[in-house]
Amino acid sequence: MKAQRITVSLTCTECQSRNYPITKRREQKLEMKKFCKTCGKHTLHRDAK
Ligand SMILES: [Zn+2]
Repeated sequence: MKAQRITVSLTCTECQSRNYPITKRREQKLEMKKFCKTCGKHTLHRDAK
């Protein structure tokens, strides 16, 4: 019984840059504050497919 993990990118919600590749469980929803170097500040990032 292995948890199925997928690779997604955390995407800046302000400029849509894909900044942080991560692995997560498929059903997991991720939202976190991360530094976006395109925006030059911390912004909310979401997982994208
Ligand atoms: Zn950004």
